[in-house]
Amino acid sequence: MQTIRGFRDILPERISLWQKVETEATKLFKAFGFKEIRIPVLEKTGLFARSIGEATDIVEKEMYTFADRKGDKLTLRPEATASIARSYIQHKMYAKDPVRKFFMIGPMFRRERPQKGRYRQFYQIDAEVFGVESAYIDCQLILLLNELFKRLGLKGLFAHINSLGCPSCRPSFQKELLDFIESKKDRLCENCIRRIDKNPLRILDCKVKDCRKALKDAPSTLDLLCKDCDDHFNTVKKTLEKQGIDFIVDKSLVRGLDYYTRTAWEIQTTSLGAQSAVAGGGRYDGLVKELGGPQTPGIGFAIGFDRLVEVMEQINKAPEDPPLELFIVSLGDAAMEKGYHWSCELNQAGIRTEIDFRRKSMKALMKRANKLNARYVLIAGDNELNENAILLRNMDTKKQSSLAMETLVPELIKIFKK
Ligand code: ATP
Ligand code: MG
Repeated sequence: MQTIRGFRDILPERISLWQKVETEATKLFKAFGFKEIRIPVLEKTGLFARSIGEATDIVEKEMYTFADRKGDKLTLRPEATASIARSYIQHKMYAKDPVRKFFMIGPMFRRERPQKGRYRQFYQIDAEVFGVESAYIDCQLILLLNELFKRLGLKGLFAHINSLGCPSCRPSFQKELLDFIESKKDRLCENCIRRIDKNPLRILDCKVKDCRKALKDAPSTLDLLCKDCDDHFNTVKKTLEKQGIDFIVDKSLVRGLDYYTRTAWEIQTTSLGAQSAVAGGGRYDGLVKELGGPQTPGIGFAIGFDRLVEVMEQINKAPEDPPLELFIVSLGDAAMEKGYHWSCELNQAGIRTEIDFRRKSMKALMKRANKLNARYVLIAGDNELNENAILLRNMDTKKQSSLAMETLVPELIKIFKK
């Protein structure tokens, strides 16, 4: 049996970088006032169709959607924002305190063509803020991402930012864009043509080379922002500059989801080939209302955890597991029983102890102790039990001492807790 295409195991040998990222991210989120939320992996399809948008890559072709036994249409979550917004509304969180900051870490599912940095089950580290319209929160999220990447030792990452405007300035932009697209129609791919009526903004996001060329001089949302959106974006830029965060304004950045308004950004790297986006984020001031809640601004980002780890693997070796502290060599039934109880008590006291329950020779067990890189070995055979003198060998210095059985566990705890 094999994993499904695009799905993979993350084996214990590779897990330490994942854990390091989780620890650092959680620490940072807490310092910035974010609370962890856990949302289901499965939701009603309508939630994603309505929030992400019908004419988007995700909803049109990437979702894992199926009918359950009763015929309800369900989808494996392709991203977290929609579910977290659903939760915010379902539990009426806005009533008690509209300002909420959440984070979550977990798997997402998209049926894309698998390649390096692109999987069908992948992981995201996600942050969402509800109830804050101020541009300072946009900056704080970008700063937070920057700080996390700095703590993880990453360099060469760049923030691309853009503003997508709001419902009051988008129509005039849309009109200009449509006029422009009409003039380039013969050079666009089928997908783009189809989207002219459904979702013209998405055309700017097309990855097809010829489309990109044709759209090089497309109008920019930035030229048509209303006064409020313009002020908002200026505050973002000014503040990021003040905070020393490197960014470039990228008018081609529109992001692949419908719900974005105003600030959108992506953190890109040059070290992963075509899969250049390590994180993406943006403001979605209309989403909560669209999903049936009260008008509430929102903003968030998602880090591609798999890609982040791949960038880290290029620069640091995975931290090694701490060495085994004690290996118990038990020879014979009586010693095995004693050894079993000692190992449990030591494990319970937090000391990394192993015992081998297979009946093996002294030589074979010492070999295993070496392989496991044990700092100490405890040797208990019939002789040692009869004389109540269990041998403890320091594997570095080769020095040996003997311990009486009654005080063996507390003595060892003393040694290892030093
Ligand atoms: P891309 O343009 O690479 O497809 P996206 O715009 O679809 O990315 P988002 O929806 O913004 O991605 O998700 C945020 C982040 O999640 C991305 O920046 C990326 O790092 C990661 N990501 C998205 N899809 C995948 C995938 N299939 N496999 C691994 N990581 C992914
Ligand atoms: Mg994508």
